[in-house]
Amino acid sequence: MSDASAPISADGDSPDARRDISDTRKFLYYGGYALTGIGVLGFLLNMIFSAGIPDDFDDIEGKMQRMMATALCMIVLLGIGVGMTRVGQRGLAGAGVILDPQRARSDLEPWSRMGGGALSDALDEAKLGEQITKAIAAASGPDRTVVVKVRCPACGELDDEDAKFCSACSEPMQTTHQEE
Ligand SMILES: [Zn+2]
Repeated sequence: MSDASAPISADGDSPDARRDISDTRKFLYYGGYALTGIGVLGFLLNMIFSAGIPDDFDDIEGKMQRMMATALCMIVLLGIGVGMTRVGQRGLAGAGVILDPQRARSDLEPWSRMGGGALSDALDEAKLGEQITKAIAAASGPDRTVVVKVRCPACGELDDEDAKFCSACSEPMQTTHQEE
């Protein structure tokens, strides 16, 4: 079965598909959730109905035994469900059912890749932030490396724009071009 939510696993033979989580594990994962839900629901319903329904007092011992047996079944079901979900999520070795670090590594590879991808995303984000910071600094702060020169109205010598007097002829630089 191919589902649209996992486009990587759509073609069965690409290396990406083999490193993705297998359908068996997906089935275990969601099946485990279902069993867990049934276990919890069954346990609660058993408690509610056993406590709630008034019964003849003759069979109270048998009733208690049935209730305990049902509760135990539901707890076992819940435990199996939790285990299935864990194995489905992390694989047999990844979940620690089989002690095999090499296999655990391949079992957990999709999650490792997810972590690596998330880290790479975060780094991209950080780089982008750095660029934005630079751009803001460039836009707001005056760039000290650029010096604007102004031509002296008397002799034509180039001087700094904030010079009060010309460095060549000592005439005042504060003249006209704004009043023109
Ligand atoms: Zn001058």
